[in-house]
Amino acid sequence: MHDDRALVENRLKRVLDERIRPAVYPASTPLDVAVWHAPGEPVPVAEGLTASPAPIAVGDAWGAPWGTSWFTVTGTVPAEWAGRTVEAILDLGFDENMPGFQCEGLVYRPDGGPVKGLNPRNQWVRIGAPVEGGEEVRLHIEAASNPVILDYHPFLPTKLGDRETAGSEPQYRLARMDLAVFDETVWQLVIDLEVLGELMAELPVDGARRWELLRAVERALDAIDLQDVNGTAAAARAELAGVLATPAAPSAHRISAVGHAHIDSAWLWPLRETVRKVARTASNMTALLEDEPEFVFAMSQAQQWAWIKEQRPEVWARVVKAVNDGRFVPAGGMWVESDTNMPGSEAMARQFVHGKRFFLEEFGVENEEAWLPDTFGFAAGLPQIIKAAGSKRLLTQKISWSQVNKFPHHTFLWEGIDGTRIFTHFPPVDTYNCSMKGGEIAHAARNFKDKGVARHSLAPTGWGDGGGGTTREMVAKAARMRDLEGSAAVVWETPAEFFARAEAEYPAPPVWVGELYLELHRATLTSQAKTKQGNRRSESLLREAELWAATAAVRTGFAYPHERLDRIWKTVLLHQFHDILPGSSIAWVHREAEKTYAAVAAELNEIIDDAQRALAGNAGSGELVFNAAPHARNGVPAGGAAMAPAPTRGGLRARDEGGYVLDDGLLRVEIDDRGLVVSACDLRAGRETVAPGQAANLLQIHPDFPNMWDAWDVDQFYRNTVTDLVDADEVTPGEEPGSVRVVRSFGRSRVTQVLTVEAGRLDIRTEVDWHETEKFLKLAFPLDVHADRYASESQYGHAFRATHTNTSWEAAKFEACNHKFVHLEEPGWGVALVTDSTYGHDVTRTVRASDRGTTTTLRVSLLRAPRFPDPETDQGLHRFRHALVPGATIGDAVREGWFLNLPERRVPGDAEVAPLVTVDDDAIVVTAVKLADDGSGDVVVRFHESRGGRARARISTGFTATGVAVTDLLERPLAGTAAPEPAGGSVAVSLRPFELVTLRFSRS
Ligand SMILES: [Zn+2]
Repeated sequence: MHDDRALVENRLKRVLDERIRPAVYPASTPLDVAVWHAPGEPVPVAEGLTASPAPIAVGDAWGAPWGTSWFTVTGTVPAEWAGRTVEAILDLGFDENMPGFQCEGLVYRPDGGPVKGLNPRNQWVRIGAPVEGGEEVRLHIEAASNPVILDYHPFLPTKLGDRETAGSEPQYRLARMDLAVFDETVWQLVIDLEVLGELMAELPVDGARRWELLRAVERALDAIDLQDVNGTAAAARAELAGVLATPAAPSAHRISAVGHAHIDSAWLWPLRETVRKVARTASNMTALLEDEPEFVFAMSQAQQWAWIKEQRPEVWARVVKAVNDGRFVPAGGMWVESDTNMPGSEAMARQFVHGKRFFLEEFGVENEEAWLPDTFGFAAGLPQIIKAAGSKRLLTQKISWSQVNKFPHHTFLWEGIDGTRIFTHFPPVDTYNCSMKGGEIAHAARNFKDKGVARHSLAPTGWGDGGGGTTREMVAKAARMRDLEGSAAVVWETPAEFFARAEAEYPAPPVWVGELYLELHRATLTSQAKTKQGNRRSESLLREAELWAATAAVRTGFAYPHERLDRIWKTVLLHQFHDILPGSSIAWVHREAEKTYAAVAAELNEIIDDAQRALAGNAGSGELVFNAAPHARNGVPAGGAAMAPAPTRGGLRARDEGGYVLDDGLLRVEIDDRGLVVSACDLRAGRETVAPGQAANLLQIHPDFPNMWDAWDVDQFYRNTVTDLVDADEVTPGEEPGSVRVVRSFGRSRVTQVLTVEAGRLDIRTEVDWHETEKFLKLAFPLDVHADRYASESQYGHAFRATHTNTSWEAAKFEACNHKFVHLEEPGWGVALVTDSTYGHDVTRTVRASDRGTTTTLRVSLLRAPRFPDPETDQGLHRFRHALVPGATIGDAVREGWFLNLPERRVPGDAEVAPLVTVDDDAIVVTAVKLADDGSGDVVVRFHESRGGRARARISTGFTATGVAVTDLLERPLAGTAAPEPAGGSVAVSLRPFELVTLRFSRS
C-alpha cells in the first residue's frame, strides 16, 4: 500500500483547525460590557460588584500594569436557543500560546458567589444545559491586568516588574465577550481526534496500530460534511469508536494523573497577586470537580490554602466541601514549596511543622509526601527532616532540568547525610504542567528509567501560575487514555494513592546517596543579597526569641508570645519560597521582602529585649552577656547569661615590607600594602594557611551574562575572564583599635573592608557600594591545604563535595551552597571560613610547580548584578561578615559559624541566667529551645550530632522536669521510641552521626 501518512496527518490538522474546532460554538451573540477600573490596589469583592462601571467595547484597550478592572457583562439568551447548551465566552485579550503569566479573571455571580476563573485556555462559563431561552445573564469579572514579564523574547530587562516603575500603558485589548451555543458532540469529536492524532504520531511506523489509527481518522474525516460539521460530527465519532475501544497492552506504563496547578507563591507577580491566582484556580478546580466525577485535584503549600481561608471565604467554602469529598487533596506537607538549599536547620523543619499542622487542624489530613516539583536542588539533610516530620516520601520533577548529567532513576530511595532513606519519585513526564498531550504521555512511558521492575509514574496535570489548573479538555483526554491500545494507561489519583502503588510494586528500589544537586540555577545562591541576609538574620533572631522567651517564661512567668512567634515564623517560611529566597522574583517582591524582614527583625528584637530584661532583673549596675549560641563562649554558658569581660582583640603593628600585622598570640595575619592577606599563621600549630605566593581576602570580579535565566543562572564560562581587585585606595589602621581598613574602587563601585584578629580568627567585615551590571563578585582564599573533599554546612549537619572535577557530576557542581561554614582539612589540621549571610561558594584546586603542594582555593560569592527579572538587582550598599579560622576542626567550624551568626548581647543587670538546657558534649548542637506549640508549657529541645560521628551526652534541665518524651518535629510523642530515663535532673542520650532528636520535657 502506498504511504499516505503525511497526507492524512496534514488533512487532520487543517480540518481540525479550520472547520471542526470553530464549530464547537456554532452560534453566538455579543454581550454588553461595562468596566470600572479600581484606582489602586485590589478592592474587596463587594466594592468591585457595586462600583459604577462605564461602557467598554470589544477591541478596546484596558488594564494598566498591575491594575484591577471590574467588568460587568449582561445579555439575554436568545429564545431560539431553547434546549441548547449555552456558554459565555469571555476573552479578556488572552494569548492562548501562553497558558498563564498574563491577565486573568475571576467570574462572580451578582450575589458575590465565585463561578470560575478566566485564563488563556479556560475562557468559558456555562450558562445553562439546556437553556429555556430568554434567560437574563449578568456576570461580574474581577480582572487583573498583570503584565507579561517573561515574553516571547525572554529575559529582556523590563521595568514592568514593579508597580512603581511599570507606567500606565494599557496591557490588553478586550477580545471576545459573547453568549454562544456549545455543541458538545463537536467538542467530543475534537478530543477524539486530538487523542488519536497525537497518539498516532508517537507510534512506530512499522507497527499495525499506527496504521489502524490513520485509517480510522481518515474515515472520520470522510464522514464529516465540511459545510455541516455540527450535523455530521456524530457520524465521524462513530468511525473512531472502534479504535478508541481497543484496550491497552498488559505491559503498558501506568500514569497516575494528579490534577495540579503549580502556583509560585510570588515570582513574576507580587505576593498579593498570588492570593488571587490561588482563588481563581481553586474556583476553577472546584467547578471542574463538580462536572467531572473521576477527576482529582491536589494543591500544595499550606500558605496558599490559608490565604483562601482568610481572604476568600466564598471560595474556601467550596474548597472545604471538595476536600471533605476526598477529591480536592492537600499535597505535600510544607508551608510553601520552599528552596531547600538555603533554609537553615530549624526553618526547614518548621516548613513541615506549619505545613502539616495546617492540614491536620483544618482537615485531619496527614500527608506523607513532600511535594516539591520545582525546587532548585535538594540538600542532603532533607530526608531526615522529612522523616522527623512524620512523612516518608518526596516528589520532585526539577532534577530533569539539569544541564549535564541525566539522573539514572525515576523511582528510588534517597539517602541523606545521616542515613535516612526516603522513597522518592521524579515524574518521567518531565513537566509539572502536563496537559495530557499524547507526546507527553508517550515521553513519560519511554523516559521512565525503571522499566522492567516498576511501571507506575505520576503526572502533575494542569496549567500553573495563572493558567487556571486542569482543564475539561485534559480530563476528557485522560478518560480516552484510561485503557487505550498504544498509549500508557492514565487514571486520576491522589499523590498518596500513587505512592502506595509505586512502593508496593518496587520494594527494593535503587539508592541515591547525598544531595540532589540541580545542575542549573546555581546563581540563586547569590542573587538578591538583601533577601538572603533577611532570611539568615530572621532565622537567627527566631532562635534567640524562642530561647530567651522560653527561659524567661520558665523562670519568671514571662508570657511566651506563642501567637507572635507563630505569625513571624510563617512570614519567614513564606519568604523561603523557591523564587523569593533564591532571588528570582521581580523587583516588587524583593523590595517588599526587604521591608518585611526589617519589620520581622524589629519585632523579634522587641521580644528578645523584653525576655532578657525580665531575666536580667532590675538590680545592680552590672552588664550581663547573653549567649544564644549552642556552645559556651567567653565563660558564658550556651543558652545562658553571665558577667563576662569583653573579648580581647589582637594587636596591630606595622609590617616591615609595608602593610600591617594583626596578632593575638594564636593567629598572626600579615596584610600587605595592597590590603591583601599574604600570611595567616596558626601560631599554635606553627602552620601557614595561605598558599605560598598567593594572597587571601582577594576580591575577584567576573563578567556574568548567562545564556538565559539571568537571576537564576551563572554559566561555567564566567570563570574564563577574571579581574583581581588588587589596587587599594587606602590601607590604614581602622578607627577601632587593632583593625586594618582597606578601601578599593572599581568600575562604579567601592569596597571598604575592616580586618581584625580575635580568638585565633581573622574577622573580615566587607561593605560594598555596588553599582555594576552583569558582574559576579567573589572573595577568594587560596589555602595551602591538600584535600579531595570539603564540607559545607547544611541542615542538621554538613555535606561533602569534591575539590576536583574527575567526572561530569563533580564538574557540574561549580557553584554550591553553604550555610554558616565551609571547612577543609588535612589529617590533623584544617581551616574554616564562616559567614553571617552568604550561601554561594566554589572550591577549586591547583598543584604548584614550586613545591608540588596543593593550593585549594575557596571563594565565597558576594554579589551579582543580573538584569532580569529585576533590572536593578543588588544595586546599592551591602554589608557582609566573614571569618577565616585557621587550625579549625569540623567542631570548631560548627561553633564559629554559630558564634558569628549569634553575636552576644550585653544587657544591664546582674542576675546571671542559668541555661534551661545544658548538654555535656560539644558535638551535640541544640538548634531550638522553645515552649511547646500547644501552649502546655512543656519545654521542647531539638538537637543533633553535628560532626558526623557518634555522641553520648547528658542533657540537663535547669528546671524541674516531670517527664520527658522523644517527639517528632510536630512535638508529638514518637510511638515505639523509648523515652530516655531521667536521673538527677538529666537524661542520657546516644546519637548516630548527624542524628536529629526532639525531646519534650513536661514540668509541674
Ligand atoms: Zn515554581
